[in-house]
This record gives sequence, structure tokens and C-alpha cells, in this order.
Amino acid sequence: MNAIQIGGLVSFTTIDYPGKLACVLFLVGCPIRCAYCSNPHLLSVGPGDYDPEKVFDWLKSRVGKLEAVVFSGGEALMQGPAVIEYMRRVRDLGFSIGLHTNGFYPENLAAASSFVDWVGIDYKATKTNYEKLTGVNIAYDHLIKSLDVWAATGKPAEVRTTCDPRYVTPNDLLEIARDVAARGFKNFAVQKYIPHFEDEAHITTPTMRNAFFNDEKLRKEVNSLFETVLWRE
Ligand code: SF4
Repeated sequence: MNAIQIGGLVSFTTIDYPGKLACVLFLVGCPIRCAYCSNPHLLSVGPGDYDPEKVFDWLKSRVGKLEAVVFSGGEALMQGPAVIEYMRRVRDLGFSIGLHTNGFYPENLAAASSFVDWVGIDYKATKTNYEKLTGVNIAYDHLIKSLDVWAATGKPAEVRTTCDPRYVTPNDLLEIARDVAARGFKNFAVQKYIPHFEDEAHITTPTMRNAFFNDEKLRKEVNSLFETVLWRE
């Protein structure tokens, strides 16, 4: 089995796994190309900078100090059986396993679900805009399959939407939230779009980006669909 390719590591975080002290491993490679990606250096498949066995030894030294290890990317599930086996080993150390995923690999998510305790899943746009945002026409259908795979596990999750006004409208956000709730999810997060790169194609303004958060009617309607909604401004 191939070793996993790790391109980055955050040694301590309180915000990447709900209620637990965690570290984050950023795996190399992503099958889609979001217009707003903040980790472009992780998108291409290739060797990671971190030796996974050295990281594993370091994780052993964190037993009793950290509670969870979060796999992020890129898209961690792109590394298939290798990452699932690594998750199993890390979980055997006693850590909870978190996964941040774009939902592109429903079969891998199903295979990983015994070893993953919590997921954060991106629901990036409505079907109409998904290809425009991600550059991949099958990404939406894969996401929907992944949502249903995870909902069937009954394990906790957060589904989140980043409100980039180029691809998501307030009405879209409500449509997404209704779909997420109908699939049985209890926790939703609305994330403010913060531009990482300035370019000529960048046409959003603070007013456009804040519109989702200043719309009390929208907030109330979204909040009414879930047990918790985090509005991340
Ligand atoms: S899924 Fe994440 S890592 Fe992949 S392109 Fe989109 S924002 Fe970047």
C-alpha cells in the first residue's frame, strides 16, 4: 500500500473538530478546482513534504495532550485505501478522527466511515452553479451521494456553505439549507467568503459578501431548519 502524502500540518487547533483539542493533517491532491481555493499549493497530486511515519511518531507523542486528529486537504479521501488505513492506525492510538471533505468520493467515505467520528462536508452551491464553481460537472452528484452515505451512518457532521456571491445567492443558501435539513443533518454552517487572491475576475464587494449575514429573515429561516447553525463571519 502506498504511503499517504501529507503537505501540511497544524499542530494545535480548537476550531477544526467541535469541542475537541485537535491537530490537522493536510493531504496533497484535490479532484476539483474551486474558484476560491485557499490551498492551491495542495491541489496537484505529488509527494508531500512530511514523512507520514514521522508524523505518526509525533502523533504518538500527542496522546493525552490532543483529543482528535483532523484530515483535511486538498481532499484527503483522494488518497483512498492509504489514508483510510492511516486513519485506522491513528484512531487505534485513541484519537477521535475528523475529516474535512468536499464529498467527491462517496465510496471512499463509506469505506472510511468506520474510522471517522465526525465530518465537515462542503455543500458549495446549488446544482446549477456547482460546475461553474468547481470546474467539474460530476462534483454535485458525488457530493449528494456522500451526504447520503454519511447521513446513513448516524454519526455527527457539519455541512457548510461558503457564501461566495459569484456562485451563491441568498435564495441559493436557503435552497441548500432546506436540502441539507431534508437529508437529516442537524448542524449547518454558513461561512463568509473572504477573498484570498486579488485578480481582475474578482468582482465581489464587502456589501455583497455581508448580505447573507445582514439578512435577518434569511438567518431566521435557516436557523429554524437545524439544531445548530454557525454563522462564521
Ligand atoms: S475542495 Fe477545497 S482544496 Fe479542493 S479546490 Fe475546493 S477549496 Fe481547494
